Amino acid sequence: MAATGQQIAYRCDQCGSPELVALSQLYEQGTRSFSGRFTSGISQSFTAKAAAPPTPKRYIRPFVLWGPVVVFFAIWTYVGFSALFMHPKSLALKEFLAVVFPILFLTAFARLLLNLGRIARYNREVYPRLRSDWAHTFMCRRCGKYSLIRP
Ligand SMILES: [Zn+2]
Repeated sequence: MAATGQQIAYRCDQCGSPELVALSQLYEQGTRSFSGRFTSGISQSFTAKAAAPPTPKRYIRPFVLWGPVVVFFAIWTYVGFSALFMHPKSLALKEFLAVVFPILFLTAFARLLLNLGRIARYNREVYPRLRSDWAHTFMCRRCGKYSLIRP
């Protein structure tokens, strides 16, 4: 095997042990995928869970969070405007419908876009750095200290 901890010339700066092991290796060793008759999935040791790589953020969350709100206000904006055009005189709350709901709709829509933008920025700028740090982090087998080692 090429990527064992032993071949690394570094030593733990806390206890001096040369037995450093990469997080990626801990993760692979402690993660098993299984499939049974009724279940399948992956099982992970405690160490593997702790050594899990960072993951990019998913885009689904803002949609779950803001999607229904956007749709709700979009519908009421539409209802408000169509009522306004169909019964321009009889509507007592027409200013409310014509102003408040579109504002709420635009606000919710802007929040959705803002959240998506934040996730895109995280995945573009922060995540690769975390991933690279993770790939270069080693754990001491003796004392458990983590160290970031860039060759
Ligand atoms: Zn150590």
